[in-house]
Amino acid sequence: MSHSNKRKKEESPAPSSKRLKKGRSYTQHEKFWASDGNVVLQLDKTRFKVHRSRLTSQSIWFRKLFEHWEKSQASLKNGDDDPAGIFDDEDLADIADVRVDKKDGCYVYNLDTTGVKIIDFEAILTTMDNGIAYYYAPPTFRAVASILRSATIFKFEQLRDFAVRYLNEMYSDLLEDMDKPSTPEHGVHAAEAIILGRNLDMDSILKRAFYELARKSDLGTGEDEEEDEEDLIYRVDNFDLVRLARGQKRLIEAWLHASTFPALECPAEQPCDSSRVRIQQLDIVTQTSLTQTYRCDPIGGIQKLIEVDWYELGYCEECRATRIRLFTEQRENIWEEMGHWFCIDE
Ligand SMILES: [Zn+2]
Repeated sequence: MSHSNKRKKEESPAPSSKRLKKGRSYTQHEKFWASDGNVVLQLDKTRFKVHRSRLTSQSIWFRKLFEHWEKSQASLKNGDDDPAGIFDDEDLADIADVRVDKKDGCYVYNLDTTGVKIIDFEAILTTMDNGIAYYYAPPTFRAVASILRSATIFKFEQLRDFAVRYLNEMYSDLLEDMDKPSTPEHGVHAAEAIILGRNLDMDSILKRAFYELARKSDLGTGEDEEEDEEDLIYRVDNFDLVRLARGQKRLIEAWLHASTFPALECPAEQPCDSSRVRIQQLDIVTQTSLTQTYRCDPIGGIQKLIEVDWYELGYCEECRATRIRLFTEQRENIWEEMGHWFCIDE
C-alpha cells in the first residue's frame, strides 16, 4: 500500500469544454458537472464535478476519503507517517491509494485504483438525483447491478440496501415466489445475478439465479446465435459453470421422474381413473407439450401439474389430494436439493 503525495502536473484545461481536447488527459462528464460543485472526481479519464456534502452525507467512504486527505495535508509538515490512522482501518485501506491532484484551487480525486467503472458510478449519481422517480418506474436490473457494485465499494449504505432488496425480490430464494411464472428478464440477467451473488456476498439470490439459467435449455447461449463474448455467461466462474451443467442434468432427471408419475391405488370401492391417467392426457387438458416445455424446469412443470383439474381426468377427491401432496413434496425436495447442486451456503 503506497501513499503517494506526488502531484501530477496538469495540462491547462479549459473548464467550459466538453470534449477531450488534443493534449488534454481527461474529459468532463456531460451530465454530472455541477457548476457550483466543490469537488472533482476522476474515473478513467472522465471528471465529475459534484457537491461534496451530498457524497459525505451518504457514503462513509467518501467522508473518510476527504478527511484523510485533509489531515494528511495538515500534518505533512510534522512528518507523521499515518496521520489519519487510515492503515489501521482495513475496510478503508484503499482510500490511501487514491491519488489527489490540485487544479485551480480544487482537488481532483482520481478514483481509478478503486476499480469502480464509470457506468456504475453514474448509476449512483443518477439515483441520488432522481431516487424518487424509482417509486413510479423501478430501475432496470442493469442499473441496480451498477448501484450494488459501486455502492458496495464506496459504502453508500442506503443505496446498497435498496439494491439488495430489489435483487432479493427479483431472485427470491423462496419456493413460494416460484408460483408466479418467471419473466424473460429473469433468464436474461441470471448470469450477471450469479456473478453478483458470488462476488458481493449475496448468497440469497444464487439459487433462483442458477435455476433461471439452468432452465433455459441452451444455458443462455442462443442455439442459433453466434458466440457472443458480451454474454455474461462467459464471465461466470468455471466451477459455477460445471455446477450449472450438472445441475441442469439433474433438473432434467427430476422432471422426467415427476412427469412419469406412477399410478395410484384408489381406496374407493369403485376405483376412480387415478391408475390410468398419463402425461399424454395432461397435454390435451393443458394444451401444452408438457414434457418438452418443462424439460429443464421441474419446478414450473410440477406447479403446472398441481394446477391441473384432476377431477376432469376422472380422479376421486382422495386420489386428487394424494397426487397433489406427492407433487408438492417432490417440488419442495428439488428446491431444497438445489442448494447442494449449486454449492450455495445457507
Ligand atoms: Zn381415487
